[in-house]
Amino acid sequence: MSVAAWCHTGTRQLYAVSPNENEERATLSRPVEGEITVRKPANYAEITARVQAAAAASGLRLRRYPIDGLGLDLLRVDIAAAEPAAARLAVFAGTHGDEPAPVVTVLEFLEQRLWTRSPSVAFSVFPCLNPTGYDLGTRENKDGIDLNRQFARDEVPEVRTLRAAVANDTFDTFVDAHEDPEEVGFYTYAFFNDSSWPRLIVEAVAEQGPIISTPEADEHPVEGGVVGQGDEETRDERFREYMADGEWPLPFYLYDLGIRDFMTTETPGMIELATRVAMQHAARDRLVDLLTASRSADA
Ligand SMILES: [Zn+2]
Repeated sequence: MSVAAWCHTGTRQLYAVSPNENEERATLSRPVEGEITVRKPANYAEITARVQAAAAASGLRLRRYPIDGLGLDLLRVDIAAAEPAAARLAVFAGTHGDEPAPVVTVLEFLEQRLWTRSPSVAFSVFPCLNPTGYDLGTRENKDGIDLNRQFARDEVPEVRTLRAAVANDTFDTFVDAHEDPEEVGFYTYAFFNDSSWPRLIVEAVAEQGPIISTPEADEHPVEGGVVGQGDEETRDERFREYMADGEWPLPFYLYDLGIRDFMTTETPGMIELATRVAMQHAARDRLVDLLTASRSADA
């Protein structure tokens, strides 16, 4: 599905990026919205300022959690459902400081009021979990620690802050948004009760950019862009196995809190930023639509 969808040059022009744009200011043309400028924030101060401005402009609730020893705050924006909430979705970005597309995607989500397309969903967004890593452009934080191996415990300040910030939440599902800096195609670790969802999400992403075509991603077998998940029982078994080493990424912490449905999106860092951002939007929107449809079917 992937490569064909990516290469398709039919009447429906999905995006166009001029070749000499750099990552800082890539322009993206969409047929409906016209030209969109993807603005990559230069640093965490700019992320904070943009989140503040976007929240203020739309009357959204912004919470700031001081991170011990950094003099910086973890940011969280909550968007209430306009209708009684059918579902609660969390989006996490910026765990790794060298993966900018998820951060840009969350900023656009706030600035362009993209939540308005899904009024029955309550959103909680965490624009950047690793402020010092973002400022340095490194996967790890300023102390060389990969936050995404620390979520079993409260040792690292950024992790401790986030764990506390979500400890009492009851999200139905979440997007843990990442990039694979060495990849040219998208893939996802997707764990949903409805096993058709990962494929449907990848199909939506494939309309915006390339899907991985190799049989392995990050040393895991991958099929059609989805890192194999197994059925519900094997999933729980596998998770317990994974979790035994104590090097938990964020999803394991949320899984341990009882959230069983989620996806980690991995956009390909080797292609231009505007496309990666469009792919992150597509993955989230498709998940939101599937979630909304499943909830209204339940009602
Ligand atoms: Zn990552």
